[in-house]
Amino acid sequence: MTRILLISAGTNFEVCDWIERHAKNLTHQTAYVVPLHLATIAGLTPKEGFEVQIWDELVQGPAEVNLDAGYDLVGITGYSDHLSRALKVGRKFHEAGIPVVFGGAGITAKPDAAEGIADAVFLGEAEPTWPEFLKDFEAGTVKPVYQTDLKVNLAQSPPPDWDSIAPLMAAGYKSGAVETSRGCPFDCEFCDVWIKFGRKMRTKPVARVMEEIAAFERLGMKRVMFATDNFIGAPKYAKQVLRAVIDLNAGFEHPVSFTTELTLTLARDPELMELIARANFSTVFIGLESTNLDSLIETRKRQNVRGDMVEECRRVSSYGMSVVGSMIVGFDNDTPAIFDQQFTFLQEALIPIPRLNVLKALDGTDLVDRMRREGRLIDTRRTYTEEEIDDRVVRSNVMFKGMTRVEAHAGYLGLMERVWDWANFSDRIIGFIDNVSNMPERRTDPRLVAVVDALQANMHAFPHADEAIIGKILSHAKAKVPALAWNVAAMTMLQCYQAAQLPQARKTIERQIRVEERLEASGGYVMAPEAPRSTVPPVLETT
Ligand code: SF4
Repeated sequence: MTRILLISAGTNFEVCDWIERHAKNLTHQTAYVVPLHLATIAGLTPKEGFEVQIWDELVQGPAEVNLDAGYDLVGITGYSDHLSRALKVGRKFHEAGIPVVFGGAGITAKPDAAEGIADAVFLGEAEPTWPEFLKDFEAGTVKPVYQTDLKVNLAQSPPPDWDSIAPLMAAGYKSGAVETSRGCPFDCEFCDVWIKFGRKMRTKPVARVMEEIAAFERLGMKRVMFATDNFIGAPKYAKQVLRAVIDLNAGFEHPVSFTTELTLTLARDPELMELIARANFSTVFIGLESTNLDSLIETRKRQNVRGDMVEECRRVSSYGMSVVGSMIVGFDNDTPAIFDQQFTFLQEALIPIPRLNVLKALDGTDLVDRMRREGRLIDTRRTYTEEEIDDRVVRSNVMFKGMTRVEAHAGYLGLMERVWDWANFSDRIIGFIDNVSNMPERRTDPRLVAVVDALQANMHAFPHADEAIIGKILSHAKAKVPALAWNVAAMTMLQCYQAAQLPQARKTIERQIRVEERLEASGGYVMAPEAPRSTVPPVLETT
């Protein structure tokens, strides 16, 4: 029997500690979403001859406690943010003489990072390569790299195996996760999704999606995230899934609530909005990116320039779904005026919890190629100190066109401070509540209503929480949209989190501004050399 430990690396334990101390007090759960990537690998592992244990550091703590637990093989995964922690953990197991392999987006972006630690690295989708690796492992013929450009048919991918963490599920995680599709028909310049996964949507059969949702419901999960980069990239398929979810939810004692990522095209399809609301979606994540039309065209976010974005966001949220809008500043067409424009937009579009980003050119995107060609891609390793990079002081690797890097980061800090100001948050979320006019009748899970009571009882525990404003928001939600009060409370908790993080974030960005001032004065930026243009891998179906 080969015993395998699959580790999802944490980021850093300061973050975990913060969640432990504050968020867990309120919801009694440590992590937002279950480790679908590891359960997928567990599902790909034959039952005979192998025993798999999943270890999610965010919920279970440092993985080093398993060093002497007799595992024969350790697999570690994580996004770029987790890479330094993943390497640290990997080194410990490697030094203990246990074979270590790495996979996931973090190592795929920097395959050389695990040199000297990893027995093998996995690049690309794991379905075709993990079974091949296991055979090689048993035969003692492991190759250093397992890579594929194959685009897996999701109908043939085995279901995720949650067995090893099932006992932790309801207590450890706020949300289950079901992968519905891969790929995206759009081709935004800054995004690697369409390059990695293809522009042709690959979808999981509706019946399989329902089985996986039902499995989470049996495990006591109240919420499920559809893990996809664009749930409505294939609208007909999305409607089939939603109709099935409505039927499935009707049979549950308590309805499961859903969330997913999709595009603003939702606002132009009334049938889809109606279905998604009836299917009990509480939140939708939408890449809005910019209020500047020229910037949207520049970055090929064409689907966002067809209508009035404020009106479209309001239309979506009128169905009782909060829009988590992701915004980016620093496109070539952005000037320092963008910060005021984005703030005004977020207030008017009633986006209670936005994501704010400074443009960053990610490996494997068209943007990174263009920045290289134009001599505007900063070689961060040669420009900044290791400490500045590890402390995540450096947010962007682009020389902006319409503003200096000092202006960009100072403007970003000002935007953050205004967005996470309690009075401004209150205006957005009260506006969201008042805007709900098309919400279909909903059953509410009474267990979720407990979130409201937990927030009311514990808000004093959050540093920088404004108790008067929180009280006003919750009373308003209970009076106007009782079925959504738990979601309003959940968003208010996120605002508590943002407000509590703000002093530290301010210090970090102020530190970056000082670094950028020094670099601008000394001309100390080192640009990355021009490299051959990366090509889009062919989309090869497995059927
Ligand atoms: S719509 Fe979203 S997922 Fe699709 S290419 Fe653009 S940013 Fe990427």
